[in-house]
Amino acid sequence: MVEFSKVSKQFGSHRVLKSIDLAIDPGEVAVVIGPSGSGKSTMLRCINVLERVSEGTLLVDGISVLGTSRDVRRIRLEAGMVFQQFNLFPHLTALQNVMFGPIRARGKSKAEARDIAAALLQKVGLGERMDHYPSQLSGGQQQRVAIARSLAVGPKLMLFDEPTSALDPELRQEVLKVMQTLALEGMTMVVVTHEMGFAKRVGSRLLFMDGGQLVHDGKPADLLSDPPSERFADFLKHID
Ligand code: ATP
Ligand code: MG
Repeated sequence: MVEFSKVSKQFGSHRVLKSIDLAIDPGEVAVVIGPSGSGKSTMLRCINVLERVSEGTLLVDGISVLGTSRDVRRIRLEAGMVFQQFNLFPHLTALQNVMFGPIRARGKSKAEARDIAAALLQKVGLGERMDHYPSQLSGGQQQRVAIARSLAVGPKLMLFDEPTSALDPELRQEVLKVMQTLALEGMTMVVVTHEMGFAKRVGSRLLFMDGGQLVHDGKPADLLSDPPSERFADFLKHID
């Protein structure tokens, strides 16, 4: 579903991703961890072409991120992204926020979009809150609306960039639960998070990035129970 081959990314002379090789198969849940500045967000942003790779090849569902503008549009529809900040439209209700993508990006009628949005809000546990505005929802509820909004476009792949970092601990679980359900349904996911419980429970892969390199790549239980490097062991001590 996602294939990095010798992918590098530079900002000016600063190499932020250094020759990344990585293949993520359909249905996998890859959890990405690593110190601040190690390139985690940049890696996600290259996948849905918010950043352009500088070198190498990156295919998303077989389509090159360096392809035509039509290719890039297809990739953006196939790869949904959820950010740390929920970025909902403040002047639209939860339902209207989720209806936006199907209308704009998929050309659905209002009635069709409403059905899609209502079903997804139900699914993320917000069936009773569809007519609330973002300011009337908790952070955890807003993030679940943001997930529903991404799903509404019909992505094949979901990218999450620290989706629970802006939330109080008691609100994190409700978001993680929605993500776990998605994973169980077979959604391919790349998740930047330091929630190690989630990584162990839900992740099929754990990727450790450091200094723009993909340093470790393995099963979460294996890497966590037997850290392959001192750097990694040290990093684990400093999260939570
Ligand atoms: P964090 O855990 O803090 O979110 P990260 O692992 O997600 O960190 P990135 O945001 O990918 O790290 O950034 C990697 C490096 O690239 C950092 O040194 C950052 O300053 C740099 N960088 C990111 N975006 C840009 C940009 N648009 N222009 C210049 N440098 C950038
Ligand atoms: Mg980041």
